[in-house]
Amino acid sequence: MINEVRNAFKKNLKNLKWMDPETREAAEIKADTISDMIGYPDFIQNPKLLDERYHNLSVRDDTYFENNIHLNYYNLVKNLEKINEPVNKTTWSMFPSTVNAYYTPGKNQMVFPAGILQSPFYDSKYPVSLNFGGMGVVMGHELTHGFDDQGREFDKDENLHQWWNSNITDLFKNRTECFTKQYGKYQINGKNLNGNQTLGENIADNGAALKPPTTLI
Ligand SMILES: [Zn+2]
Repeated sequence: MINEVRNAFKKNLKNLKWMDPETREAAEIKADTISDMIGYPDFIQNPKLLDERYHNLSVRDDTYFENNIHLNYYNLVKNLEKINEPVNKTTWSMFPSTVNAYYTPGKNQMVFPAGILQSPFYDSKYPVSLNFGGMGVVMGHELTHGFDDQGREFDKDENLHQWWNSNITDLFKNRTECFTKQYGKYQINGKNLNGNQTLGENIADNGAALKPPTTLI
Protein backbone atom coordinates (compact mmCIF):
# COMPACT_ATOMS: atom_id res chain seq x y z
CA MET A 1 0.00 0.00 0.00
CA ILE A 2 2.82 2.39 0.88
CA ASN A 3 4.39 1.87 -2.52
CA GLU A 4 1.07 2.42 -4.31
CA VAL A 5 0.63 5.70 -2.40
CA ARG A 6 4.28 6.64 -3.05
CA ASN A 7 3.84 6.01 -6.79
CA ALA A 8 0.65 8.11 -6.88
CA PHE A 9 2.51 10.89 -5.06
CA LYS A 10 5.40 10.76 -7.55
CA LYS A 11 2.98 10.75 -10.50
CA ASN A 12 1.34 13.83 -9.08
CA LEU A 13 4.66 15.70 -8.92
CA LYS A 14 4.53 15.86 -12.73
CA ASN A 15 1.34 17.96 -12.47
CA LEU A 16 3.03 20.68 -10.41
CA LYS A 17 3.67 23.32 -13.05
CA TRP A 18 5.58 25.57 -10.62
CA MET A 19 8.20 22.91 -9.88
CA ASP A 20 11.31 22.78 -12.06
CA PRO A 21 12.69 19.47 -13.44
CA GLU A 22 15.68 19.34 -11.02
CA THR A 23 13.52 19.82 -7.92
CA ARG A 24 10.98 17.32 -9.24
CA GLU A 25 13.67 14.72 -9.78
CA ALA A 26 15.15 15.34 -6.33
CA ALA A 27 11.65 15.11 -4.82
CA GLU A 28 11.07 11.76 -6.56
CA ILE A 29 14.35 10.47 -5.19
CA LYS A 30 13.47 11.69 -1.69
CA ALA A 31 10.03 10.00 -1.90
CA ASP A 32 11.77 6.76 -2.92
CA THR A 33 14.27 7.09 -0.07
CA ILE A 34 11.64 7.45 2.71
CA SER A 35 11.87 4.30 4.81
CA ASP A 36 9.00 2.87 6.82
CA MET A 37 8.39 0.86 9.96
CA ILE A 38 5.13 -0.99 10.47
CA GLY A 39 3.52 -2.60 13.53
CA TYR A 40 6.07 -2.79 16.34
CA PRO A 41 9.83 -3.02 16.98
CA ASP A 42 11.36 -6.51 16.79
CA PHE A 43 12.60 -6.58 20.41
CA ILE A 44 9.02 -6.79 21.69
CA GLN A 45 8.77 -10.44 20.61
CA ASN A 46 12.14 -11.34 22.11
CA PRO A 47 11.74 -11.81 25.92
CA LYS A 48 15.49 -11.48 26.55
CA LEU A 49 15.79 -8.18 24.67
CA LEU A 50 12.55 -6.95 26.20
CA ASP A 51 13.84 -7.63 29.75
CA GLU A 52 17.16 -5.97 28.92
CA ARG A 53 15.37 -2.90 27.59
CA TYR A 54 13.32 -2.35 30.77
CA HIS A 55 15.89 -3.70 33.22
CA ASN A 56 16.27 -0.31 34.94
CA LEU A 57 12.57 0.51 35.09
CA SER A 58 10.69 -0.38 38.24
CA VAL A 59 6.88 -0.54 37.99
CA ARG A 60 4.42 -1.67 40.67
CA ASP A 61 0.67 -2.11 40.40
CA ASP A 62 -0.07 -0.02 43.52
CA THR A 63 2.20 3.04 43.02
CA TYR A 64 0.81 5.00 40.08
CA PHE A 65 2.53 8.30 40.93
CA GLU A 66 5.94 6.72 41.59
CA ASN A 67 5.61 4.67 38.39
CA ASN A 68 5.30 7.90 36.42
CA ILE A 69 8.32 9.42 38.16
CA HIS A 70 10.33 6.26 37.39
CA LEU A 71 9.18 6.31 33.78
CA ASN A 72 10.15 9.98 33.33
CA TYR A 73 13.55 9.30 34.83
CA TYR A 74 14.02 6.18 32.68
CA ASN A 75 13.12 8.12 29.51
CA LEU A 76 15.45 10.99 30.46
CA VAL A 77 18.39 8.62 30.93
CA LYS A 78 17.58 6.85 27.65
CA ASN A 79 17.54 10.19 25.83
CA LEU A 80 20.83 11.30 27.39
CA GLU A 81 22.44 8.04 26.30
CA LYS A 82 21.74 9.04 22.67
CA ILE A 83 23.96 12.15 22.84
CA ASN A 84 26.98 11.78 20.54
CA GLU A 85 25.67 8.43 19.29
CA PRO A 86 24.89 7.98 15.58
CA VAL A 87 21.17 8.14 14.70
CA ASN A 88 19.55 4.77 15.27
CA LYS A 89 16.89 4.41 12.60
CA THR A 90 15.29 1.36 14.21
CA THR A 91 14.04 3.09 17.36
CA TRP A 92 10.34 3.95 17.61
CA SER A 93 8.92 7.26 18.88
CA MET A 94 5.44 5.79 19.42
CA PHE A 95 4.12 2.77 21.29
CA PRO A 96 2.80 -0.14 19.18
CA SER A 97 -0.64 0.37 20.78
CA THR A 98 -0.88 4.04 19.75
CA VAL A 99 -3.59 4.90 17.21
CA ASN A 100 -1.44 7.36 15.30
CA ALA A 101 1.45 7.53 12.81
CA TYR A 102 4.38 9.86 12.21
CA TYR A 103 7.02 11.05 9.77
CA THR A 104 10.37 12.15 11.12
CA PRO A 105 12.54 14.31 8.80
CA GLY A 106 15.71 13.59 10.82
CA LYS A 107 15.39 9.94 9.76
CA ASN A 108 13.37 10.47 6.57
CA GLN A 109 11.12 7.74 7.88
CA MET A 110 7.40 7.13 8.35
CA VAL A 111 6.05 4.87 11.06
CA PHE A 112 2.67 3.15 11.40
CA PRO A 113 2.18 1.46 14.79
CA ALA A 114 -0.05 -1.62 15.09
CA GLY A 115 -2.63 0.49 16.96
CA ILE A 116 -3.73 2.33 13.81
CA LEU A 117 -3.71 -0.80 11.65
CA GLN A 118 -7.20 -1.82 12.74
CA SER A 119 -10.78 -0.83 12.02
CA PRO A 120 -11.92 1.74 10.99
CA PHE A 121 -8.54 2.63 9.39
CA TYR A 122 -7.55 -0.81 8.18
CA ASP A 123 -8.72 -4.41 8.19
CA SER A 124 -7.33 -7.25 6.09
CA LYS A 125 -10.94 -8.29 5.33
CA TYR A 126 -11.92 -4.83 4.07
CA PRO A 127 -12.12 -4.16 0.33
CA VAL A 128 -9.02 -2.41 -1.06
CA SER A 129 -11.04 0.80 -1.50
CA LEU A 130 -11.82 1.07 2.23
CA ASN A 131 -8.25 0.33 3.26
CA PHE A 132 -6.89 2.99 0.93
CA GLY A 133 -9.63 5.42 2.02
CA GLY A 134 -8.68 4.87 5.68
CA MET A 135 -5.05 3.81 5.97
CA GLY A 136 -3.92 4.97 2.51
CA VAL A 137 -4.86 8.54 3.43
CA VAL A 138 -2.75 8.27 6.60
CA MET A 139 0.16 6.99 4.50
CA GLY A 140 -0.25 9.85 2.02
CA HIS A 141 -0.39 12.29 4.93
CA GLU A 142 2.87 11.02 6.46
CA LEU A 143 4.60 10.86 3.09
CA THR A 144 3.61 14.48 2.36
CA HIS A 145 5.16 15.56 5.67
CA GLY A 146 8.51 14.89 3.99
CA PHE A 147 7.71 17.85 1.71
CA ASP A 148 5.79 20.21 3.98
CA ASP A 149 7.07 23.53 5.37
CA GLN A 150 9.46 21.68 7.74
CA GLY A 151 10.07 18.37 5.95
CA ARG A 152 11.16 20.10 2.74
CA GLU A 153 14.11 21.63 4.61
CA PHE A 154 15.65 18.16 5.01
CA ASP A 155 17.14 16.31 2.07
CA LYS A 156 16.92 12.59 1.28
CA ASP A 157 19.93 11.94 3.54
CA GLU A 158 18.09 13.50 6.51
CA ASN A 159 20.31 16.55 6.56
CA LEU A 160 19.05 20.09 7.09
CA HIS A 161 20.07 21.29 3.66
CA GLN A 162 18.47 23.52 1.06
CA TRP A 163 17.82 21.23 -1.90
CA TRP A 164 15.28 23.59 -3.51
CA ASN A 165 16.58 26.73 -5.25
CA SER A 166 15.33 30.05 -3.88
CA ASN A 167 12.97 30.62 -6.80
CA ILE A 168 11.17 27.30 -6.24
CA THR A 169 11.14 27.94 -2.48
CA ASP A 170 9.38 31.30 -3.09
CA LEU A 171 6.82 29.64 -5.36
CA PHE A 172 6.18 26.98 -2.70
CA LYS A 173 5.79 29.62 0.01
CA ASN A 174 3.34 31.62 -2.14
CA ARG A 175 1.17 28.53 -2.40
CA THR A 176 1.38 27.65 1.28
CA GLU A 177 0.09 31.17 2.00
CA CYS A 178 -3.27 30.00 0.60
CA PHE A 179 -3.42 27.23 3.21
CA THR A 180 -2.39 29.62 5.99
CA LYS A 181 -5.17 32.02 5.00
CA GLN A 182 -7.78 29.32 4.38
CA TYR A 183 -7.24 27.52 7.67
CA GLY A 184 -6.84 30.82 9.53
CA LYS A 185 -10.49 31.52 8.68
CA TYR A 186 -11.76 28.38 10.44
CA GLN A 187 -13.07 28.96 13.91
CA ILE A 188 -13.25 26.73 16.97
CA ASN A 189 -15.11 27.99 20.05
CA GLY A 190 -15.22 31.47 18.52
CA LYS A 191 -11.46 31.62 18.00
CA ASN A 192 -9.62 31.48 14.70
CA LEU A 193 -7.11 28.74 14.00
CA ASN A 194 -3.50 29.86 13.66
CA GLY A 195 -2.95 28.88 10.02
CA ASN A 196 0.82 29.16 10.38
CA GLN A 197 0.92 26.82 13.33
CA THR A 198 -1.14 24.12 11.60
CA LEU A 199 0.49 24.58 8.19
CA GLY A 200 2.44 21.30 8.12
CA GLU A 201 -0.62 19.24 9.07
CA ASN A 202 -2.79 21.04 6.53
CA ILE A 203 -0.24 20.49 3.75
CA ALA A 204 -0.05 16.80 4.73
CA ASP A 205 -3.86 16.40 4.77
CA ASN A 206 -4.22 18.02 1.36
CA GLY A 207 -1.26 16.12 -0.05
CA ALA A 208 -2.93 12.87 1.00
CA ALA A 209 -6.03 13.72 -1.02
CA LEU A 210 -4.45 12.43 -4.21
CA LYS A 211 -6.04 10.93 -7.24
CA PRO A 212 -5.76 7.15 -6.81
CA PRO A 213 -3.28 5.32 -9.06
CA THR A 214 -4.99 3.85 -12.11
CA THR A 215 -4.45 0.28 -10.91
CA LEU A 216 -6.88 0.93 -8.05
CA ILE A 217 -9.74 2.49 -9.99
ZN1 LIG B 1 0.65 14.93 10.44
